[in-house]
Amino acid sequence: MNIESFAIYLAPLALIVFFYLRGRYKKESSAIEVFNEAIEAGLTEPSSLHPEINPNICMGAGSCIAACPEDAIGMIKGKAVLINPTHCIGHGACATACPHDAIKLVFGTAKRGMDIPQVNPNFETNVPGIFIAGELGGMGLIRKAAGQGTQAIESIAKLKGSKHPYDVVIVGTGPAGLAATLGAMEHKLRHVTIEQESSLGGCIYQYPRNKIVMTAPVKLPVVGKMHFKEVSKEKLLEFWHGIIAKTGIKLNYNERMESITKIDKGFIVKTSRSSYETSAVLLAIGRRGTPRKLGVPGEDLPKVVYHLIEAEQYQNKHVLVVGGGDSALEAAIAIAEQPGTTVTLSYRSDAFGRGKPKNRDRLKEMADRGRISVRLKSNVKLVEKDKVVIEQEGKMIALPNDAVIVCAGGILPTPMLKEIGVMVETKFGTT
Ligand SMILES: Cc1cc2nc3c(=O)[nH]c(=O)nc-3n(C[C@H](O)[C@H](O)[C@H](O)COP(=O)(O)OP(=O)(O)OC[C@H]3O[C@@H](n4cnc5c(N)ncnc54)[C@H](O)[C@@H]3O)c2cc1C
Ligand code: SF4
Repeated sequence: MNIESFAIYLAPLALIVFFYLRGRYKKESSAIEVFNEAIEAGLTEPSSLHPEINPNICMGAGSCIAACPEDAIGMIKGKAVLINPTHCIGHGACATACPHDAIKLVFGTAKRGMDIPQVNPNFETNVPGIFIAGELGGMGLIRKAAGQGTQAIESIAKLKGSKHPYDVVIVGTGPAGLAATLGAMEHKLRHVTIEQESSLGGCIYQYPRNKIVMTAPVKLPVVGKMHFKEVSKEKLLEFWHGIIAKTGIKLNYNERMESITKIDKGFIVKTSRSSYETSAVLLAIGRRGTPRKLGVPGEDLPKVVYHLIEAEQYQNKHVLVVGGGDSALEAAIAIAEQPGTTVTLSYRSDAFGRGKPKNRDRLKEMADRGRISVRLKSNVKLVEKDKVVIEQEGKMIALPNDAVIVCAGGILPTPMLKEIGVMVETKFGTT
């Protein structure tokens, strides 16, 4: 073969290798960027079940990256790495996809333990009559939560001799609580379902708009099979609302469970609105806890919310966002991008040390352009129908206001579980 024909064959091969290496380099650079950003923002601890990737076994096949719908894994130096730990939702598609068994799913990390309440195969805790289903028990995902809610109610239905007005109080209307409520209806249990938020869906309600939800078909009591595999958040919520309309199940919104007290053969569940005597309690409260409140007069007005769901609804409004973490920064930025808004961001500290650099840069840029008024070292003192009062370095400032979004973190359920005697094990990166 002469040099010319050798070059004819070699050139396309060299081009293929060039484009392959360039693609790989680009992907790795963006994975490193995401990883570094997570480290800088302190977002390195996954919230639930997550993959532990053994670099000694990983051959860099990349199947886990392709399988992960949350873009939580990337390739760095030929090895898969959990680059975006807080995006991981723990469905384990990565572990299933790995051809070399390099991934195992674990709870917690060496640095941050994860509290898992102990439940038996019937979903009952060590406190007889207290049951746990769904993500609170450690296993996330819509399908698993709904399945566990159904099974827990089946166990509760087998309890004999209730002498209280209620057989079960179901707490939470995420997938676990909703499936449990349908189960309670099917088994004709005397039940009440309470939810601290103003809408059903639990975590699903708080997904970003149009999020594609990956799930698997699951059989629900009363209504039969839920067929979805991939569905938008909005369609899934519509489906749940349809079930409520069809079955007539009753859900008590805006009612928060505050305490559970043991009584003879049962419990008193005290809520923000009432109290219930019951033989059993099913906690389907997920792991995100109860949003931390400001504790100021006027906070109970309907214009005060604890999550941003749709920025568009605040067009042409005066909005106060409270908090200094990423969710507060992202909420303030998203609302300030809407036409006609005036946005104030109030934070009690003197700097936004906790947010992702990308959010802090964007905030600064919007503050410089006058789109967001940042008030550091400030505290909300009063909320009224059309104004809020903020105290900043000794001065009281009244601002016109149509909506308040408080992003001040949540009170986690573990202390409450321990208080009622439920045994909780802290896992540090174990299965
Ligand atoms: C961003 C994101 C994306 C996800 N994507 C997917 C996906 O694509 N596919 C998938 O299968 N899973 C996904 N998940 C996981 C899934 O949403 C959860 O595992 C599932 O919702 C857990 O259901 P649950 O019923 O156990 O708890 P939750 O959905 O968390 O519901 C708990 C409910 O209890 C209420 N509650 C809590 N405390 C109290 C109280 N004291 N009193 C009254 N009510 C209370 C809460 O307000 C909430 O409504 C995702 C999670 C997140 C965060
Ligand atoms: S468990 Fe799911 S979300 Fe987490 S990294 Fe694996 S595939 Fe991605």
